Amino acid sequence: MRIDVFTIFPDMVAGFADQSLLGRARRSGLLDVRVHDLREHTTDAHRTVDDAPFGGGAGMVLRPEPIFASVEATDPPRPLLLLGPGGRRFDQARARELAVSGGFSLLCGRYEGVDDRVRTALCDGELSIGDYVLGGGEVAAMVVLEAVGRLVPGVMGNVHSSGEESFSDGLLEYPQWTRPAEFRSMEVPEVLRSGDHERVARWRRARSLLRTLADRPDLIEARGGLGDAERELLAEFGDD
Ligand code: SAH
Repeated sequence: MRIDVFTIFPDMVAGFADQSLLGRARRSGLLDVRVHDLREHTTDAHRTVDDAPFGGGAGMVLRPEPIFASVEATDPPRPLLLLGPGGRRFDQARARELAVSGGFSLLCGRYEGVDDRVRTALCDGELSIGDYVLGGGEVAAMVVLEAVGRLVPGVMGNVHSSGEESFSDGLLEYPQWTRPAEFRSMEVPEVLRSGDHERVARWRRARSLLRTLADRPDLIEARGGLGDAERELLAEFGDD
C-alpha cells in the first residue's frame, strides 16, 4: 500500500513514519510511505509557501502554486485528502476503508489554512481528526498513517490483534492485564487465569459491554441497544 504525504515539514512526518510498527512495515515493503516537501516546488529565492489572505485578517494562507505543482509532479495515489477541521470525521470505520483501498494521499495545511482552490480543484475530499484546531495537518497525518497502517494486512505481527479491539464491532475493548498476577494487593481476575478459553471469551465480551455501557453509552445506542444474548451475558458476569 502506498501513502503519499504533502507537507512543509517533511522531517516531522518522515521521522514518525520511520519508527516502530510503521518503520518496520516500510522496511519490509508492506507500506510505501512517501513524504513530499511542498517547498521543493516554490520558484522564488525565499521558497515562499504562504501569503496574506485576500479580504484581510490574521495569519497566512498556503499558496496554491507549490501545492498544485508538487501534486502534479508526483501523480500520487488517490483519493488525495486534505486534512482540515471542516472535513469528514476520521474514525475506525474510515481507517478500515482506507486500509483496504490500495493507497491514498494526505495534504497537510498550516497557518490559517490552504487556498480554497486546493480543496475544490485538486483534492478529492477533506478529513478531520476531531473538533479542535491544530497548528498544522502533520499531526493529523500521523494519526491517519498510524491508524490505517496498523490495519494493513501483515503490518501487525498477530493477525488477530486488530479484530477484537475497540470499535471493531462498535464496542470498547475488554480490559487487559499481564504479569504479575498480584501487584500491590491488586489481583488479576481469576477467570483469566482459569485456562477455560470459552469462559474467558464470554467474560471478556461481558466486560467489553459493561465498559462501553459505562463510558460510551452512545456506542451502544448506535448499534441499537443490547441484544438478548448480551443481556444474558451481563446477567451472568455483571457482578464480577
Ligand atoms: N483557520 C482554519 C484552521 C487552520 S489550522 C479554520 O478555522 O478552520 C491549520 C491546518 O491544520 C489546517 O489547514 C489543517 O491542515 C490542519 N488541521 C487543523 N485542525 C485539524 C483537524 N481537526 N483535523 C485535521 N487537520 C487539522
